[in-house]
Amino acid sequence: MTAQHSSTTGNTNVSLFARAQRTTPGGVNSPVRAFRSVGGTPRFITRAQGPYFWDAEEQRYIDYIGSWGPAIVGHAHPQVIQAVQEAAARGLSFGAPTEGEILMAEEICKLVPSIEQVRLVSSGTEATMSALRLARGATKRDKIVKFEGCYHGHADSLLVKAGSGLLTFGNPTSSGVPEDFVKHTLVLDYNNTQQLEEAFKTAGDEIACVIVEPVAGNMNLVRATPEFLHTMRRLCTQYGSILIFDEVMSGFRVALGGAQSLYGIEPDLTALGKVIGGGLPVAAFGGRTDIMQHLAPLGGVYQAGTLSGNPVAVAAGLTTLKIIQEPDFYSHLSAQTRKLADGLCAAAKAANVTFSADALGGMFGLYFAPAVPTSYAEVMQGDKERFNVFFHAMLDAGVYLAPSAFEAGFVSAQHDDAVIAATINAAHAAFATIA
Ligand SMILES: *Cc1c(COP(=O)(O)O)cnc(C)c1O
Repeated sequence: MTAQHSSTTGNTNVSLFARAQRTTPGGVNSPVRAFRSVGGTPRFITRAQGPYFWDAEEQRYIDYIGSWGPAIVGHAHPQVIQAVQEAAARGLSFGAPTEGEILMAEEICKLVPSIEQVRLVSSGTEATMSALRLARGATKRDKIVKFEGCYHGHADSLLVKAGSGLLTFGNPTSSGVPEDFVKHTLVLDYNNTQQLEEAFKTAGDEIACVIVEPVAGNMNLVRATPEFLHTMRRLCTQYGSILIFDEVMSGFRVALGGAQSLYGIEPDLTALGKVIGGGLPVAAFGGRTDIMQHLAPLGGVYQAGTLSGNPVAVAAGLTTLKIIQEPDFYSHLSAQTRKLADGLCAAAKAANVTFSADALGGMFGLYFAPAVPTSYAEVMQGDKERFNVFFHAMLDAGVYLAPSAFEAGFVSAQHDDAVIAATINAAHAAFATIA
């Protein structure tokens, strides 16, 4: 029995994927890992260090997903590992409060000034779901506004795409979500300021909240225009609606203070995740004290979690938050990401491939399109087939990009000049196979 299940020798990615599919739907525990969009066999990862990870066949890859964002200080950072080991030795979970949770809350409130109070949860999905319930409870309104192409986790009322016309309510994008559950979700176009104004003019008094990725990272990378976000802030204030920035991805990723610090906008509530756990399950939602006081045990909005603020996870998160505050952390990270984006554009140009790229903090977008997109519709116009060819050529050369044309990429502080240069080198050859 044990020999049969040993994964130390003789495994290949193909053999592991075949085995995984017997006991796990699609062989994966989160859909995009399955490579369905790009085709081929997912890589089964055995270990990671700094900017690299290795698969079951001992192939090394330069990693540009960083666990989809959390690995901002690089994989297996010695300080993070040490903090986790020390916390684990003291016990894994208590179901009673710890000082680590206070330190984590104090750190988040310090780094993101719009957050006066915060509650820790275990996933981004929980954070946004809880923020929505809180917004509805605090305003005593039902309707919510979201934007096409923004992902806020997989809560029922957020798995919605736009209806057929302006101000129609959304259609579920997942089977298993009753239409009744999304009938209060209004889906608008990202970066369409005029449509947003019209929506508020029509239904503003009924809107509990607007939830938005201020830098969208789940339809590739798409920046909000300042006008779009400032209008949103003004309308929410005017109509008494709560503005929720979903910074699960952009928080501590595009800048130390998140996207809200770049745009100079204070949302009423913020959802955080990914980086704040440093690779372990920590997420959070927080904001104005007068809103947060509606949460149980003080108020009537219920929210809870057996592993919320888990001491081992908080140790990883706190240590990560400490490292990212070291001098020049973000200027270095941004410079490396910018070098990558510029280098990839130059390589594409040399091969005569229509391509553009964007970089913000430690996040980047690659587009097989003539210009950086500003909306979901524009993102969808990108050349998916060319991306897939490029993806596999890069993978064969030892560079692991997100396995979908519609996902953003992530750079860590450990992606040094040699790593970026090796990536651009690989890209020259990969673009040549497309042209
Ligand atoms: C990843 C993500 C989520 C969901 O977080 P999970 O931890 O995967 O549940 C929510 N919102 C945004 C913007 C995300 O990028």
